[in-house]
Amino acid sequence: MRFKDEVVMVTGSSRGIGKEIAQAFAEEGAIVAIIDVNAELTEATTQELTARGLKAENFVCDVTNLKNVEEMVTKILDKYKRIDILVNNAGITKDNLLLRMSENDWDAVINVNLRGPFVCTKAVTKAMMKARKGRIINIASIIGIRGNAGQTNYAATKAGVIGFTKSIARELASRGITANAIAPGYIQTPMTAKLSDAVREDLLKMIPLGTLGTAKDVAGACLFLASKEASYITGQTIVVDGGMAI
Ligand code: NAP
Repeated sequence: MRFKDEVVMVTGSSRGIGKEIAQAFAEEGAIVAIIDVNAELTEATTQELTARGLKAENFVCDVTNLKNVEEMVTKILDKYKRIDILVNNAGITKDNLLLRMSENDWDAVINVNLRGPFVCTKAVTKAMMKARKGRIINIASIIGIRGNAGQTNYAATKAGVIGFTKSIARELASRGITANAIAPGYIQTPMTAKLSDAVREDLLKMIPLGTLGTAKDVAGACLFLASKEASYITGQTIVVDGGMAI
């Protein structure tokens, strides 16, 4: 039980990679805050975990709304008196070529993927600084490193998240808080399940390890960055992509 009774906030954790991360922490003894905008799914995921005897509590919360997030953080602190780990995972895509991209689609992606981590990190920082202990893990993407045609908005946010991570790592290091990012490659999710066989084959040719990644691969990196073994690592981006970005 590597994280027994530690309080972990995972945003966007009602499904996908976030759910796997939340589950992995809960299986290691943590109390996990399942945070998402989708009320039904957030409740269902929390129930799924608690039915297995894991510790989880659901919070329907929009990560872009500072007031909502601050209220949630206050509730968590009132009840558990601590927040040990924040995983900024919530993210969206609204892909289009730049010439066709609407302002709304640009703004929506910037809002969730970049403002979200800013808002959530700001909301937990005071408690972590007081405790002189904390781990912040931001889920970026290799698209933020390599860029991708049709994803200018998404790539800009994920590159931004990497810069944000380095800056908070510098700001918070003296208070015993580390901040790192994970840049996943192509992960098996409902999104990538929709790819045609031809696109999937082309993709696999670009991945030295020859398979798509799994949400478990990302969760494993997350647990490592939150662990004691990673206590001297900060400001870094761990790429989990089967070697695609080498
Ligand atoms: P996903 O299945 O779409 O899950 C993301 C979750 O975040 C959804 O439940 C979504 O809810 C929620 N969310 C969206 N906006 C939110 C908001 N404002 N406040 C709170 N929650 C919100 O995505 P995923 O594939 O697991 O991706 C998770 C993270 O990994 C993202 O940051 C993504 O960019 C990154 N990533 C994914 C891949 C991949 O291959 N899948 C690769 C690299 C990086 P709704 O759907 O109801 O809006």
